[in-house]
Amino acid sequence: MITQHKTTGTLLVNEKMANYTSWRVGGIADYMYLPSNKADLIQFIQQQDAAVPLFWLGLGSNLLVRDGGIRGVVINTRNRLKEMCRLEDDRVSVEVGVPCALVARFCASQGLVGAEFLAGIPGTMGGALAMNAGAFGGETWQIVECVEVINRAGVAVNKLPSDFEISYRSVKRAENEWFLTARLKLKQGQTTESQQQIKALLEKRNLTQPYNLPTCGSVFKNPPNDYAARLIELSGLKGYTIGGACVSEKHANFIVNTGQATAADIETLIAYIQTQVETRHGVCLQTEVCKVGVAC
Ligand SMILES: Cc1cc2nc3c(=O)[nH]c(=O)nc-3n(C[C@H](O)[C@H](O)[C@H](O)COP(=O)(O)OP(=O)(O)OC[C@H]3O[C@@H](n4cnc5c(N)ncnc54)[C@H](O)[C@@H]3O)c2cc1C
Repeated sequence: MITQHKTTGTLLVNEKMANYTSWRVGGIADYMYLPSNKADLIQFIQQQDAAVPLFWLGLGSNLLVRDGGIRGVVINTRNRLKEMCRLEDDRVSVEVGVPCALVARFCASQGLVGAEFLAGIPGTMGGALAMNAGAFGGETWQIVECVEVINRAGVAVNKLPSDFEISYRSVKRAENEWFLTARLKLKQGQTTESQQQIKALLEKRNLTQPYNLPTCGSVFKNPPNDYAARLIELSGLKGYTIGGACVSEKHANFIVNTGQATAADIETLIAYIQTQVETRHGVCLQTEVCKVGVAC
């Protein structure tokens, strides 16, 4: 039972997750809450029975939601927790629903450098914190000074990077604890140089990735001293298809939904790639994408 006493956000029932993921797959979420702002979200969480599972959603660009959907409430932060402002001493405060591209552009416009790599990551600040998203040598937590987190009881506290176990595309945090706000620490620089760097990064990305197709970016983490894409290509898997899921011809670490893929097609293809790469190259590829929800 979901409680909503004097909250001002929107509670949706039976939302199709395929509409919220970049892979365009995923079953029904029992509930989805669209908070009107951070204070409203805190109030909503405090009202919910501890037994109700919460799942936090950003832009769904790193999510494989299974066909049976998600039980409990999906907290949809995108463009809901959207405050961003400059603080003193080259710092920027960003709520987690702000898209990474906006963060990169805002910092550049302020003459603050160091966040350019975020420009091409098609997720939110919250997703970037959860994944330690990175590109072209930059990683999210390199520019984080502190974060505000909330627990299942609805209590918000500030934490430092040293409170988390942070590594390549991985951030270990307490169970049932989620990010609300990040305070970024950047360096002073030139707006035009930062903007040019963003433009160059985006051009490079567009040349190498199928950015206009339904994908989830890199499916697998790169193994130490190697590239998942190289191993997949060497295994002859470019173009390999299961149902509507196909290994991209442009970038072998991307799986494209060619139109009618189910989450099960994608999950089966992921397992197939893992088996093939392990058999041929002895490398056990780890997934970067988050698999959530229940199978049909
Ligand atoms: C074309 C394409 C290119 C990509 N390129 C890159 C790249 O260069 N580098 C890279 O690192 N990634 C890349 N990705 C993957 C993806 O964009 C990143 O992982 C991104 O950070 C995910 O953010 P999101 O808001 O979409 O998160 P979602 O996919 O919505 O969620 C991902 C995980 O974060 C959790 N989460 C979301 N918000 C919060 C929160 N506030 N608190 C706690 N947990 C939260 C979710 O529960 C989930 O476990 C790419 C994806 C695509 C489709």
